[in-house]
Amino acid sequence: MSTDETILNQLKKEIPVDEESLVLNPDSRVGLVIVDVVNGFCTVGSGNMAPTKHNEQISKMVEESAKLAREFCNRKWPIFAFLDSHHPDILEVPYPPHCIIGTDESKLVPALQWLESESCVTLRRKDCINGFVGSMEKDGSNVFVDWVKEKQIKAIVVVGICTDICVFDFVATVISARNHSVLPPLEDVAVYSHGCATFDLPLHVAKDIKGAQAHPQELMHHIGLYMAKGRGAKVVSEISFGQ
Ligand SMILES: [Zn+2]
Repeated sequence: MSTDETILNQLKKEIPVDEESLVLNPDSRVGLVIVDVVNGFCTVGSGNMAPTKHNEQISKMVEESAKLAREFCNRKWPIFAFLDSHHPDILEVPYPPHCIIGTDESKLVPALQWLESESCVTLRRKDCINGFVGSMEKDGSNVFVDWVKEKQIKAIVVVGICTDICVFDFVATVISARNHSVLPPLEDVAVYSHGCATFDLPLHVAKDIKGAQAHPQELMHHIGLYMAKGRGAKVVSEISFGQ
């Protein structure tokens, strides 16, 4: 085991995340939320925020998200998918330009493109890290809140990228909103660990990029799950479907 792996394992031991198994039934009234599984974050070479080479954690996340989406669609269960999409003239601080509207970067990855023509899917373009905030309309309504109400969703399973950024911000805000009684009838929020990923910017690379913060993938993914659990989400490593 390398020194880096030993340190990582020690850190994980200090803040363990107990993961559960989740069994979903028709009366679970569950919705799947897919966060930003777009080319600009997931497809090699697709812009400033995309992986520069094959990334195992991101590939696995795409595969698991697609598998879960298929299971939901087969059952006609609702899916809500966020697509990060920015106007070319409006930067999202502190990130470099990414996922500009109309480019391939802001499109769902090839493995998920079929979602665009499924009737059980609600797509939401957002220009905001936090999907809950990005669901707000000018008239004060919130597309995500309305989706939960309309579909009478009692539980959500969240997948996507990045575990510690867009996924975490969304999960933390949804839990706050639920606790504040503005998201009825939502009760449970689950994060599927293998369906989430984050980007990799190790210290030795980040130190040569002006203004960049180191972001070691494995550790930050773990911290994202840890923070979500700390806020009251279930972190699940296994999802099965009952009768
Ligand atoms: Zn963005």
